Amino acid sequence: MKYYSLNDTQENKTYTSFEDAVVKGIAPDRGLYFPESITPLDEAFINSIENYSNEEIAFEVIQQFVGDEIPISVLKEIINDTLCFDFPTVKVEENVYALELFHGPTMAFKDVGARFMARCLGYFNRDKKDEKVTVLVATSGDTGGAVASGFLGVKGVEVVILYPSGKVSDIQEKQLTTLGQNITALEVDGVFDDCQEMVKTAFLDSNLTEENLTSANSINVARWLPQMFYFFFAYKQLKAQNKELVFSVPSGNFGNICAGMMAYKLGLPVKHFVASTNINDTVPQYMSTQKYSPKPSKQTISNAMDVGNPSNFIRIQNLFNNNFEALNKLFSSYSYTDEETKKTMESIYKTSGYIADPHGAVGYLGLKKYQENNKDTVGVFLETAHPVKFLDVVEGTLEVSVAIPEQIKAVIDKKKESHFIKTYDDLKDFLKSR
Ligand SMILES: *Cc1c(COP(=O)(O)O)cnc(C)c1O
Repeated sequence: MKYYSLNDTQENKTYTSFEDAVVKGIAPDRGLYFPESITPLDEAFINSIENYSNEEIAFEVIQQFVGDEIPISVLKEIINDTLCFDFPTVKVEENVYALELFHGPTMAFKDVGARFMARCLGYFNRDKKDEKVTVLVATSGDTGGAVASGFLGVKGVEVVILYPSGKVSDIQEKQLTTLGQNITALEVDGVFDDCQEMVKTAFLDSNLTEENLTSANSINVARWLPQMFYFFFAYKQLKAQNKELVFSVPSGNFGNICAGMMAYKLGLPVKHFVASTNINDTVPQYMSTQKYSPKPSKQTISNAMDVGNPSNFIRIQNLFNNNFEALNKLFSSYSYTDEETKKTMESIYKTSGYIADPHGAVGYLGLKKYQENNKDTVGVFLETAHPVKFLDVVEGTLEVSVAIPEQIKAVIDKKKESHFIKTYDDLKDFLKSR
């Protein structure tokens, strides 16, 4: 499959390979890579999806985007390795299901993208002897842990993670600062947007060319595209209900929901997508005013969504040829405060006993809003993180105690190791000093 940069507006576009898009992360003109074409899957496959394993589904879904750049047998192995856990849809109430994406090693949905990307990069590096690639990634919370775990011990790859000091949860911080080996954490005096800006600047800094930098944020196609799997897995489980399907996705950088809309373009029958956000409401504002005005991010209790300028929204617009009306038909976006989020966590728990994390609760809210006028649908909100990852908020709001899963126990008592940095120059010095 060929990819082009969304900043390339020429009639005759410059195309590059899947490998190059994965290794570079972002295009030289700072644009996001986008596949040249999207070919819908065979209807017969989608209509009989319940007869396929998750691994088989994933292969069908991703194959065209990889093309012949990874041999089929290797791609199948990568998929098997990536999908080593479950993706259950759990009934919360009539016509409302939580799609639990948090059963992986770091208990956040980003595990799938991180594991898939790490293994692709491992394959592309298979013959490189001394040359190292450095994965540089900014995290607002969960990306760091998932990338650290996904890339731990991958040959020829160094990982450098930037996170905003004091703005990720204790467990999240442990997950990205305690692994050692090829993983280094940089603690940034700033907010997530500062981290993201530093990473973007580093990619374009000609003084850092020798460092072979690549990104593992959701802008990387190998992290973004495997997220399509979730939507097919949910469909497989809920198809027998014979109702139109609605997804509500708690959204920050909008990679996950964009992958859902790619799944739609592949032929997945979905009635509507809801992007639910916290008060970082750049996209909900855009959907009501048609003006896109990015803002600095504000801190909330659903901190993995504290993004003021969501990178992937441009991909969503591109999927609809930048036609607002076409987008508006299939897509809505609503924003919620921390207060509303906490109230909802309480009410979900009271009525069903289900413990939602703050991100899932935001997703639930957006789903319920859409369902007010679309009652006869089966709705799915994505539960993007295990409640234990936001322990203070969950336990403080619900007055329950959450059992600590094994994956988390394993990091909680380990010692944090990080380097404190303030400016882009600090980052540059660190990268060059290795
Ligand atoms: C990253 C993350 C999100 C936001 O996903 P995007 O793809 O950036 O929109 C939501 N919830 C959790 C728990 C996350 O870690």
